[in-house]
Amino acid sequence: MAERIVVVGGGMAAVRLAEHLAGDDRLAVTVLADEPHAPYNRILLSAVLEGTHAADALTLRSEEWFAAHGIDLRLGARVLEVDRAARAVVLVDGERVAYDRLVLACGSIPTLPPIRGLVRRDGTLHPTVHAFRSLADCRRLDEAASSLVEEGALAPVTRPRAIVVGGGLLGLQVARALAVRGLRTEVVEGADHLLARQVGPGAGRVLARDLRRLGTEVYTGARAVRITDDGLQLDNGHVLPSDLVVLTAGGRPSTALARRAGLMVRRGVVVDHTLTSVTDDRVHAIGDCAEHRRRTTGNVSPAWEQAEVLARVLRGEEASYDGDRSVARLRATGLDVAVLGDPERAAGEVVEVTNPVAGSYRRLVVHGGRIVAAALVGDLSRVGLITQLYDRGTLLGPDEPGQLLLPEAADAPTPLPDEAEVCACAGVTAGEVRACGTVGECVDRTRATTGCGGCADVVRRLVDDSPAPVAVG
Ligand SMILES: Cc1cc2nc3c(=O)[nH]c(=O)nc-3n(C[C@H](O)[C@H](O)[C@H](O)COP(=O)(O)OP(=O)(O)OC[C@H]3O[C@@H](n4cnc5c(N)ncnc54)[C@H](O)[C@@H]3O)c2cc1C
Repeated sequence: MAERIVVVGGGMAAVRLAEHLAGDDRLAVTVLADEPHAPYNRILLSAVLEGTHAADALTLRSEEWFAAHGIDLRLGARVLEVDRAARAVVLVDGERVAYDRLVLACGSIPTLPPIRGLVRRDGTLHPTVHAFRSLADCRRLDEAASSLVEEGALAPVTRPRAIVVGGGLLGLQVARALAVRGLRTEVVEGADHLLARQVGPGAGRVLARDLRRLGTEVYTGARAVRITDDGLQLDNGHVLPSDLVVLTAGGRPSTALARRAGLMVRRGVVVDHTLTSVTDDRVHAIGDCAEHRRRTTGNVSPAWEQAEVLARVLRGEEASYDGDRSVARLRATGLDVAVLGDPERAAGEVVEVTNPVAGSYRRLVVHGGRIVAAALVGDLSRVGLITQLYDRGTLLGPDEPGQLLLPEAADAPTPLPDEAEVCACAGVTAGEVRACGTVGECVDRTRATTGCGGCADVVRRLVDDSPAPVAVG
Protein backbone atom coordinates (compact mmCIF):
# COMPACT_ATOMS: atom_id res chain seq x y z
CA MET A 1 0.00 0.00 0.00
CA ALA A 2 1.21 3.50 -0.84
CA GLU A 3 2.54 5.55 2.04
CA ARG A 4 0.11 8.33 2.97
CA ILE A 5 1.75 11.79 2.96
CA VAL A 6 -0.47 14.55 4.28
CA VAL A 7 0.66 18.14 3.74
CA VAL A 8 -0.89 20.93 5.85
CA GLY A 9 -0.94 24.19 3.87
CA GLY A 10 -1.21 24.82 0.15
CA GLY A 11 1.33 27.62 -0.23
CA MET A 12 4.62 28.04 -2.06
CA ALA A 13 6.54 25.34 -0.15
CA ALA A 14 3.70 22.80 -0.39
CA VAL A 15 3.29 23.18 -4.14
CA ARG A 16 7.01 22.72 -4.69
CA LEU A 17 6.96 19.55 -2.57
CA ALA A 18 3.98 18.27 -4.59
CA GLU A 19 5.90 18.92 -7.83
CA HIS A 20 8.82 16.84 -6.58
CA LEU A 21 6.59 13.98 -5.35
CA ALA A 22 4.30 13.89 -8.40
CA GLY A 23 4.47 10.63 -10.32
CA ASP A 24 5.81 8.50 -7.46
CA ASP A 25 3.17 5.79 -7.08
CA ARG A 26 4.70 4.53 -3.82
CA LEU A 27 3.26 7.68 -2.22
CA ALA A 28 -0.36 8.84 -1.82
CA VAL A 29 -0.17 12.60 -1.35
CA THR A 30 -2.95 14.78 0.10
CA VAL A 31 -2.60 18.57 0.34
CA LEU A 32 -4.91 20.27 2.84
CA ALA A 33 -5.09 23.97 2.02
CA ASP A 34 -7.23 26.39 3.99
CA GLU A 35 -7.33 29.05 1.27
CA PRO A 36 -10.05 28.59 -1.37
CA HIS A 37 -7.71 28.98 -4.39
CA ALA A 38 -5.18 26.65 -5.98
CA PRO A 39 -1.62 27.43 -4.76
CA TYR A 40 -0.49 30.82 -6.05
CA ASN A 41 2.61 32.98 -6.12
CA ARG A 42 2.34 35.15 -3.00
CA ILE A 43 5.34 37.25 -4.05
CA LEU A 44 3.38 38.73 -6.93
CA LEU A 45 0.35 39.83 -4.86
CA SER A 46 1.57 43.42 -5.01
CA ALA A 47 1.64 43.14 -8.83
CA VAL A 48 -2.09 42.28 -8.66
CA LEU A 49 -2.68 45.27 -6.40
CA GLU A 50 -0.70 47.46 -8.76
CA GLY A 51 -2.78 46.21 -11.69
CA THR A 52 0.07 44.70 -13.76
CA HIS A 53 -0.98 41.05 -13.19
CA ALA A 54 -4.41 39.40 -13.12
CA ALA A 55 -5.02 37.32 -9.98
CA ASP A 56 -5.43 34.18 -12.15
CA ALA A 57 -1.93 34.62 -13.54
CA LEU A 58 -0.51 33.94 -10.07
CA THR A 59 -1.64 30.27 -9.99
CA LEU A 60 1.42 28.05 -9.61
CA ARG A 61 -0.34 24.74 -10.32
CA SER A 62 -4.03 24.38 -11.15
CA GLU A 63 -6.51 21.98 -9.54
CA GLU A 64 -6.40 20.04 -12.85
CA TRP A 65 -2.62 19.64 -12.55
CA PHE A 66 -2.99 18.12 -9.06
CA ALA A 67 -5.74 15.77 -10.28
CA ALA A 68 -3.71 14.74 -13.34
CA HIS A 69 -0.77 13.84 -11.07
CA GLY A 70 -2.88 11.84 -8.66
CA ILE A 71 -2.47 14.33 -5.80
CA ASP A 72 -5.53 14.93 -3.65
CA LEU A 73 -5.69 18.74 -3.30
CA ARG A 74 -8.41 19.85 -0.90
CA LEU A 75 -9.12 23.56 -0.94
CA GLY A 76 -10.86 25.35 1.93
CA ALA A 77 -9.65 22.53 4.21
CA ARG A 78 -8.39 24.02 7.44
CA VAL A 79 -6.59 21.63 9.78
CA LEU A 80 -7.62 22.23 13.38
CA GLU A 81 -5.70 19.57 15.26
CA VAL A 82 -3.00 16.96 14.84
CA ASP A 83 -3.70 13.72 16.70
CA ARG A 84 -0.18 12.28 16.77
CA ALA A 85 -1.16 9.21 18.75
CA ALA A 86 -3.71 8.18 16.10
CA ARG A 87 -1.61 9.61 13.23
CA ALA A 88 -4.47 11.69 11.87
CA VAL A 89 -5.30 15.34 11.40
CA VAL A 90 -8.72 16.79 12.19
CA LEU A 91 -10.27 19.29 9.79
CA VAL A 92 -12.45 22.18 10.87
CA ASP A 93 -15.61 20.23 9.84
CA GLY A 94 -14.58 17.29 12.05
CA GLU A 95 -13.31 15.02 9.23
CA ARG A 96 -10.21 13.02 10.15
CA VAL A 97 -7.47 12.42 7.58
CA ALA A 98 -4.99 9.66 8.45
CA TYR A 99 -1.30 9.95 7.63
CA ASP A 100 1.85 7.87 7.69
CA ARG A 101 3.90 11.05 7.39
CA LEU A 102 2.75 14.59 8.06
CA VAL A 103 4.31 17.70 6.53
CA LEU A 104 3.63 21.07 8.13
CA ALA A 105 3.90 23.82 5.51
CA CYS A 106 1.69 26.38 7.26
CA GLY A 107 3.72 29.49 6.38
CA SER A 108 3.59 32.54 8.62
CA ILE A 109 0.97 34.88 10.02
CA PRO A 110 1.05 38.67 10.28
CA THR A 111 1.62 40.10 13.74
CA LEU A 112 -0.39 43.07 14.96
CA PRO A 113 1.80 46.00 16.06
CA PRO A 114 0.97 47.57 19.46
CA ILE A 115 -1.19 50.44 18.17
CA ARG A 116 -4.01 51.66 20.41
CA GLY A 117 -7.41 51.59 18.74
CA LEU A 118 -6.33 48.98 16.18
CA VAL A 119 -8.58 46.28 17.56
CA ARG A 120 -12.06 47.47 18.55
CA ARG A 121 -14.08 46.27 21.54
CA ASP A 122 -15.92 43.68 19.42
CA GLY A 123 -12.57 42.16 18.40
CA THR A 124 -12.66 43.49 14.82
CA LEU A 125 -9.98 45.69 13.25
CA HIS A 126 -10.48 49.44 12.85
CA PRO A 127 -12.45 49.79 9.55
CA THR A 128 -9.66 51.58 7.68
CA VAL A 129 -7.08 48.90 8.54
CA HIS A 130 -5.95 46.09 6.19
CA ALA A 131 -3.46 43.21 6.29
CA PHE A 132 -1.58 42.00 3.20
CA ARG A 133 -0.58 38.36 3.04
CA SER A 134 -3.16 36.43 1.06
CA LEU A 135 -5.14 36.78 -2.15
CA ALA A 136 -8.23 37.50 -0.02
CA ASP A 137 -6.37 40.38 1.74
CA CYS A 138 -5.24 41.62 -1.66
CA ARG A 139 -8.81 41.63 -3.04
CA ARG A 140 -10.16 43.52 -0.01
CA LEU A 141 -7.39 46.10 -0.24
CA ASP A 142 -7.87 46.39 -3.99
CA GLU A 143 -11.58 47.20 -3.51
CA ALA A 144 -10.86 49.77 -0.79
CA ALA A 145 -8.16 51.39 -2.93
CA SER A 146 -10.48 51.52 -5.98
CA SER A 147 -13.25 53.29 -4.09
CA LEU A 148 -10.76 55.78 -2.62
CA VAL A 149 -9.30 56.44 -6.08
CA GLU A 150 -12.85 57.13 -7.31
CA GLU A 151 -13.49 59.49 -4.36
CA GLY A 152 -10.20 61.20 -5.14
CA ALA A 153 -11.27 61.75 -8.73
CA LEU A 154 -14.42 63.52 -7.47
CA ALA A 155 -12.53 65.65 -4.91
CA PRO A 156 -8.96 66.03 -6.20
CA VAL A 157 -8.01 68.69 -3.62
CA THR A 158 -8.42 66.32 -0.68
CA ARG A 159 -6.66 63.39 -2.33
CA PRO A 160 -7.25 60.23 -0.22
CA ARG A 161 -4.31 59.18 1.89
CA ALA A 162 -2.97 55.70 2.48
CA ILE A 163 -0.47 54.86 5.20
CA VAL A 164 1.65 51.74 5.14
CA VAL A 165 2.87 50.70 8.60
CA GLY A 166 6.21 48.94 8.11
CA GLY A 167 9.01 49.71 5.69
CA GLY A 168 10.06 46.10 5.18
CA LEU A 169 9.62 44.04 2.05
CA LEU A 170 5.82 43.85 2.10
CA GLY A 171 5.49 47.51 3.05
CA LEU A 172 7.60 48.66 0.12
CA GLN A 173 5.70 46.49 -2.34
CA VAL A 174 2.32 47.73 -1.09
CA ALA A 175 3.41 51.38 -0.95
CA ARG A 176 4.56 51.28 -4.53
CA ALA A 177 1.33 49.61 -5.69
CA LEU A 178 -0.92 52.12 -3.90
CA ALA A 179 1.13 55.09 -5.14
CA VAL A 180 0.95 53.82 -8.73
CA ARG A 181 -2.84 53.50 -8.26
CA GLY A 182 -2.94 57.23 -7.51
CA LEU A 183 -3.29 57.32 -3.73
CA ARG A 184 -1.24 59.74 -1.70
CA THR A 185 0.88 57.19 0.15
CA GLU A 186 3.10 57.43 3.21
CA VAL A 187 5.32 54.77 4.81
CA VAL A 188 6.01 54.68 8.57
CA GLU A 189 9.02 52.61 9.64
CA GLY A 190 10.36 52.26 13.19
CA ALA A 191 13.97 51.51 12.13
CA ASP A 192 16.19 54.26 10.81
CA HIS A 193 16.03 53.03 7.21
CA LEU A 194 13.88 50.93 4.87
CA LEU A 195 14.24 47.16 4.45
CA ALA A 196 16.34 47.18 7.62
CA ARG A 197 16.19 43.40 8.16
CA GLN A 198 17.89 42.72 4.85
CA VAL A 199 20.07 45.71 3.91
CA GLY A 200 21.98 48.64 5.42
CA PRO A 201 21.30 52.39 5.45
CA GLY A 202 22.91 53.05 2.02
CA ALA A 203 20.60 50.61 0.25
CA GLY A 204 17.68 51.88 2.37
CA ARG A 205 18.28 55.43 1.09
CA VAL A 206 18.27 54.25 -2.54
CA LEU A 207 14.92 52.50 -1.93
CA ALA A 208 13.46 55.56 -0.15
CA ARG A 209 14.50 57.76 -3.05
CA ASP A 210 12.81 55.37 -5.49
CA LEU A 211 9.55 55.58 -3.50
CA ARG A 212 9.74 59.38 -3.23
CA ARG A 213 9.97 59.52 -7.03
CA LEU A 214 6.39 58.17 -6.98
CA GLY A 215 5.36 60.91 -4.55
CA THR A 216 5.44 58.60 -1.52
CA GLU A 217 6.63 60.14 1.75
CA VAL A 218 8.82 57.95 3.96
CA TYR A 219 9.03 58.46 7.75
CA THR A 220 11.80 56.39 9.30
CA GLY A 221 12.60 56.18 13.03
CA ALA A 222 8.89 56.71 13.74
CA ARG A 223 6.39 54.32 15.28
CA ALA A 224 2.61 54.38 14.95
CA VAL A 225 1.12 54.34 18.46
CA ARG A 226 -2.58 55.08 18.08
CA ILE A 227 -5.27 55.01 15.43
CA THR A 228 -8.41 57.16 15.55
CA ASP A 229 -11.01 58.23 12.99
CA ASP A 230 -8.77 61.28 12.34
CA GLY A 231 -5.71 59.28 11.40
CA LEU A 232 -2.60 57.59 12.69
CA GLN A 233 -0.64 59.09 15.56
CA LEU A 234 3.13 58.62 15.65
CA ASP A 235 5.31 58.38 18.76
CA ASN A 236 6.62 61.91 18.05
CA GLY A 237 3.07 63.21 18.49
CA HIS A 238 2.51 63.87 14.79
CA VAL A 239 -0.89 62.73 13.42
CA LEU A 240 -1.04 61.56 9.81
CA PRO A 241 -4.57 61.84 8.42
CA SER A 242 -5.48 58.52 6.80
CA ASP A 243 -8.29 56.96 4.80
CA LEU A 244 -6.56 53.60 4.54
CA VAL A 245 -3.94 51.91 6.73
CA VAL A 246 -2.08 48.77 5.67
CA LEU A 247 -0.25 46.76 8.32
CA THR A 248 2.87 45.08 7.02
CA ALA A 249 5.01 45.33 10.13
CA GLY A 250 6.13 41.80 10.73
CA GLY A 251 4.99 38.24 10.75
CA ARG A 252 5.90 35.09 12.60
CA PRO A 253 5.93 31.40 11.74
CA SER A 254 2.51 29.78 12.00
CA THR A 255 3.10 27.27 14.78
CA ALA A 256 -0.17 27.05 16.77
CA LEU A 257 -1.02 23.63 15.33
CA ALA A 258 2.44 22.21 16.10
CA ARG A 259 2.44 23.65 19.61
CA ARG A 260 -0.97 22.15 20.41
CA ALA A 261 0.27 18.80 19.09
CA GLY A 262 3.15 18.89 21.59
CA LEU A 263 5.89 19.26 18.97
CA MET A 264 8.97 21.23 19.90
CA VAL A 265 8.52 24.84 18.80
CA ARG A 266 10.81 27.77 19.47
CA ARG A 267 10.18 30.55 16.95
CA GLY A 268 9.31 27.89 14.34
CA VAL A 269 8.71 24.13 14.34
CA VAL A 270 12.14 22.74 15.25
CA VAL A 271 13.47 20.33 12.61
CA ASP A 272 16.76 18.49 12.02
CA HIS A 273 18.85 18.26 8.82
CA THR A 274 16.24 15.94 7.24
CA LEU A 275 13.49 18.49 7.98
CA THR A 276 12.02 16.07 10.51
CA SER A 277 10.54 17.28 13.80
CA VAL A 278 12.93 16.65 16.68
CA THR A 279 9.92 15.42 18.70
CA ASP A 280 8.26 13.02 16.23
CA ASP A 281 9.99 11.35 13.28
CA ARG A 282 6.70 11.03 11.38
CA VAL A 283 6.26 14.80 11.27
CA HIS A 284 8.19 17.23 9.05
CA ALA A 285 8.12 20.99 8.54
CA ILE A 286 9.25 23.16 5.61
CA GLY A 287 9.05 26.81 4.56
CA ASP A 288 8.28 29.83 6.71
CA CYS A 289 6.96 27.71 9.64
CA ALA A 290 10.14 25.60 10.04
CA GLU A 291 13.11 26.34 12.29
CA HIS A 292 16.41 24.72 11.36
CA ARG A 293 19.60 25.29 13.37
CA ARG A 294 17.86 28.04 15.36
CA ARG A 295 16.99 29.92 12.17
CA THR A 296 13.64 30.54 10.57
CA THR A 297 13.55 31.91 7.04
CA GLY A 298 10.87 34.00 5.35
CA ASN A 299 11.53 33.90 1.66
CA VAL A 300 10.89 31.50 -1.11
CA SER A 301 14.37 30.31 -1.99
CA PRO A 302 15.00 28.31 1.24
CA ALA A 303 11.35 27.14 1.24
CA TRP A 304 11.87 25.59 -2.21
CA GLU A 305 15.25 24.14 -1.30
CA GLN A 306 13.70 22.52 1.79
CA ALA A 307 10.80 21.16 -0.33
CA GLU A 308 13.29 19.50 -2.67
CA VAL A 309 15.31 17.96 0.17
CA LEU A 310 12.20 16.71 1.96
CA ALA A 311 10.85 15.13 -1.24
CA ARG A 312 14.03 13.06 -1.42
CA VAL A 313 13.78 12.13 2.26
CA LEU A 314 10.14 11.04 1.77
CA ARG A 315 11.17 8.91 -1.21
CA GLY A 316 13.67 7.16 1.03
CA GLU A 317 16.77 8.75 -0.50
CA GLU A 318 19.76 10.17 1.40
CA ALA A 319 19.29 13.93 1.58
CA SER A 320 20.13 16.63 4.02
CA TYR A 321 19.46 20.37 4.37
CA ASP A 322 22.35 22.41 5.76
CA GLY A 323 20.69 25.85 5.61
CA ASP A 324 24.08 27.46 4.98
CA ARG A 325 23.07 28.97 1.71
CA SER A 326 21.17 32.18 2.10
CA VAL A 327 20.21 33.86 -1.16
CA ALA A 328 17.08 36.01 -1.39
CA ARG A 329 15.66 37.80 -4.40
CA LEU A 330 13.11 40.40 -3.43
CA ARG A 331 10.76 42.64 -5.36
CA ALA A 332 10.87 45.93 -3.46
CA THR A 333 9.49 49.28 -4.72
CA GLY A 334 10.24 49.18 -8.47
CA LEU A 335 13.75 47.97 -7.76
CA ASP A 336 14.94 44.39 -7.58
CA VAL A 337 16.98 43.44 -4.52
CA ALA A 338 19.32 40.48 -4.01
CA VAL A 339 20.76 39.60 -0.60
CA LEU A 340 23.42 36.90 -0.18
CA GLY A 341 24.28 35.90 3.37
CA ASP A 342 24.09 38.68 5.95
CA PRO A 343 25.71 41.76 4.37
CA GLU A 344 25.24 43.94 7.47
CA ARG A 345 26.70 41.62 10.08
CA ALA A 346 29.18 39.40 8.18
CA ALA A 347 32.79 40.02 9.22
CA GLY A 348 35.14 41.18 6.45
CA GLU A 349 36.16 44.08 4.24
CA VAL A 350 33.36 46.00 2.59
CA VAL A 351 33.45 47.13 -1.04
CA GLU A 352 30.51 49.37 -1.83
CA VAL A 353 29.26 51.41 -4.80
CA THR A 354 26.15 53.60 -4.55
CA ASN A 355 24.46 55.56 -7.30
CA PRO A 356 21.26 57.02 -5.84
CA VAL A 357 20.56 58.94 -9.05
CA ALA A 358 20.47 55.77 -11.13
CA GLY A 359 18.78 53.90 -8.23
CA SER A 360 21.51 51.35 -7.65
CA TYR A 361 23.50 50.14 -4.65
CA ARG A 362 26.01 47.28 -4.47
CA ARG A 363 27.88 45.97 -1.46
CA LEU A 364 30.23 43.01 -1.22
CA VAL A 365 31.70 41.74 2.03
CA VAL A 366 34.98 39.96 1.35
CA HIS A 367 36.77 37.83 3.95
CA GLY A 368 40.06 36.07 3.20
CA GLY A 369 39.64 36.94 -0.49
CA ARG A 370 36.19 35.29 -0.69
CA ILE A 371 32.73 36.87 -0.96
CA VAL A 372 30.93 36.07 2.31
CA ALA A 373 27.90 38.35 1.81
CA ALA A 374 26.46 40.80 -0.69
CA ALA A 375 23.55 43.17 -1.20
CA LEU A 376 22.53 44.45 -4.61
CA VAL A 377 19.73 46.95 -5.25
CA GLY A 378 18.59 48.13 -8.67
CA ASP A 379 21.13 46.86 -11.19
CA LEU A 380 21.24 43.07 -10.81
CA SER A 381 23.15 42.38 -14.01
CA ARG A 382 26.03 40.76 -12.10
CA VAL A 383 23.97 38.80 -9.60
CA GLY A 384 24.41 35.43 -11.35
CA LEU A 385 28.19 35.68 -11.33
CA ILE A 386 28.38 37.07 -7.78
CA THR A 387 26.10 34.28 -6.51
CA GLN A 388 28.29 31.67 -8.17
CA LEU A 389 31.47 33.11 -6.57
CA TYR A 390 29.69 33.29 -3.19
CA ASP A 391 28.34 29.73 -3.41
CA ARG A 392 31.69 28.24 -4.38
CA GLY A 393 33.80 30.38 -2.06
CA THR A 394 36.02 31.28 -5.05
CA LEU A 395 39.26 33.06 -4.13
CA LEU A 396 39.28 36.54 -5.78
CA GLY A 397 42.23 38.67 -6.89
CA PRO A 398 42.66 42.06 -5.16
CA ASP A 399 40.94 44.04 -7.96
CA GLU A 400 38.13 41.60 -8.63
CA PRO A 401 35.64 42.70 -5.94
CA GLY A 402 35.77 46.27 -7.25
CA GLN A 403 35.40 45.15 -10.86
CA LEU A 404 32.41 42.99 -9.97
CA LEU A 405 30.59 46.06 -8.71
CA LEU A 406 31.05 48.05 -11.87
CA PRO A 407 28.15 47.93 -14.33
CA GLU A 408 28.64 45.54 -17.23
CA ALA A 409 30.20 47.24 -20.26
CA ALA A 410 27.39 47.53 -22.80
CA ASP A 411 29.65 46.77 -25.76
CA ALA A 412 31.33 43.68 -24.35
CA PRO A 413 28.89 41.59 -22.33
CA THR A 414 30.60 38.61 -20.71
CA PRO A 415 28.52 35.48 -21.32
CA LEU A 416 27.25 33.94 -18.09
CA PRO A 417 29.08 30.68 -17.35
CA ASP A 418 26.83 27.62 -17.43
CA GLU A 419 27.26 27.10 -13.66
CA ALA A 420 26.11 30.65 -12.76
CA GLU A 421 22.76 30.67 -10.98
CA VAL A 422 20.18 32.85 -12.71
CA CYS A 423 17.03 31.97 -10.71
CA ALA A 424 17.72 32.25 -6.99
CA CYS A 425 14.19 31.23 -6.05
CA ALA A 426 14.25 27.87 -7.86
CA GLY A 427 18.06 27.43 -7.89
CA VAL A 428 18.40 27.23 -11.70
CA THR A 429 21.71 27.75 -13.51
CA ALA A 430 22.42 29.42 -16.87
CA GLY A 431 23.34 26.02 -18.34
CA GLU A 432 19.97 24.50 -17.35
CA VAL A 433 18.17 27.44 -18.97
CA ARG A 434 20.29 27.20 -22.15
CA ALA A 435 19.35 23.52 -22.45
CA CYS A 436 15.70 24.53 -22.98
CA GLY A 437 14.30 25.43 -26.39
CA THR A 438 11.74 27.99 -25.22
CA VAL A 439 10.90 30.03 -22.15
CA GLY A 440 7.78 27.86 -21.68
CA GLU A 441 9.85 24.69 -21.69
CA CYS A 442 12.25 26.29 -19.22
CA VAL A 443 9.36 27.16 -16.87
CA ASP A 444 7.99 23.62 -17.08
CA ARG A 445 11.30 21.88 -16.63
CA THR A 446 13.05 24.08 -14.10
CA ARG A 447 10.36 26.38 -12.59
CA ALA A 448 12.72 29.35 -13.24
CA THR A 449 10.83 32.71 -13.31
CA THR A 450 7.93 31.32 -11.24
CA GLY A 451 9.14 32.84 -7.95
CA CYS A 452 9.87 36.56 -7.73
CA GLY A 453 10.16 36.76 -11.52
CA GLY A 454 13.32 38.88 -11.26
CA CYS A 455 15.20 36.52 -13.62
CA ALA A 456 12.62 36.67 -16.45
CA ASP A 457 14.70 38.97 -18.70
CA VAL A 458 17.90 36.95 -18.26
CA VAL A 459 16.04 33.69 -18.95
CA ARG A 460 14.53 35.17 -22.12
CA ARG A 461 17.96 36.35 -23.28
CA LEU A 462 19.64 33.02 -22.52
CA VAL A 463 16.98 31.05 -24.38
CA ASP A 464 17.21 33.42 -27.37
CA ASP A 465 21.01 33.13 -27.44
CA SER A 466 21.12 29.36 -27.07
CA PRO A 467 21.71 27.33 -30.24
CA ALA A 468 18.48 25.90 -31.71
CA PRO A 469 17.81 22.38 -30.38
CA VAL A 470 18.97 19.78 -32.94
CA ALA A 471 16.24 17.55 -34.34
CA VAL A 472 16.95 13.89 -33.70
CA GLY A 473 15.85 10.92 -35.82
C1 LIG B 1 3.14 40.07 -0.14
C2 LIG B 1 4.33 39.17 -0.02
C3 LIG B 1 5.48 39.42 -0.78
C4 LIG B 1 6.60 38.59 -0.69
N1 LIG B 1 7.69 38.86 -1.47
C5 LIG B 1 8.75 38.01 -1.47
C6 LIG B 1 9.87 38.23 -2.34
O1 LIG B 1 9.95 39.21 -3.08
N2 LIG B 1 10.88 37.29 -2.34
C7 LIG B 1 10.84 36.18 -1.52
O2 LIG B 1 11.76 35.34 -1.58
N3 LIG B 1 9.80 35.99 -0.66
C8 LIG B 1 8.76 36.87 -0.61
N4 LIG B 1 7.70 36.65 0.25
C9 LIG B 1 7.75 35.52 1.19
C10 LIG B 1 7.29 34.20 0.50
O3 LIG B 1 6.04 34.38 -0.09
C11 LIG B 1 7.25 33.11 1.55
O4 LIG B 1 8.54 32.92 2.06
C12 LIG B 1 6.74 31.78 0.94
O5 LIG B 1 5.43 31.93 0.48
C13 LIG B 1 6.83 30.67 2.00
O6 LIG B 1 6.12 29.54 1.59
P1 LIG B 1 5.28 28.67 2.66
O7 LIG B 1 4.63 27.58 1.87
O8 LIG B 1 6.15 28.35 3.80
O9 LIG B 1 4.17 29.66 3.19
P2 LIG B 1 2.92 30.27 2.44
O10 LIG B 1 3.19 30.48 1.00
O11 LIG B 1 2.50 31.44 3.25
O12 LIG B 1 1.80 29.14 2.54
C14 LIG B 1 1.28 28.64 3.75
C15 LIG B 1 -0.16 28.20 3.49
O13 LIG B 1 -0.60 27.36 4.55
C16 LIG B 1 -1.94 27.70 4.86
N5 LIG B 1 -2.25 27.21 6.21
C17 LIG B 1 -1.77 27.68 7.40
N6 LIG B 1 -2.29 26.99 8.43
C18 LIG B 1 -3.12 26.05 7.88
C19 LIG B 1 -3.95 25.04 8.43
N7 LIG B 1 -4.05 24.85 9.76
N8 LIG B 1 -4.68 24.25 7.58
C20 LIG B 1 -4.58 24.42 6.23
N9 LIG B 1 -3.81 25.37 5.65
C21 LIG B 1 -3.09 26.17 6.47
C22 LIG B 1 -1.92 29.22 4.74
O14 LIG B 1 -3.20 29.78 4.63
C23 LIG B 1 -1.13 29.38 3.43
O15 LIG B 1 -1.97 29.25 2.32
C24 LIG B 1 6.58 37.49 0.21
C25 LIG B 1 5.43 37.25 1.00
C26 LIG B 1 4.32 38.08 0.90
C27 LIG B 1 3.12 37.83 1.74
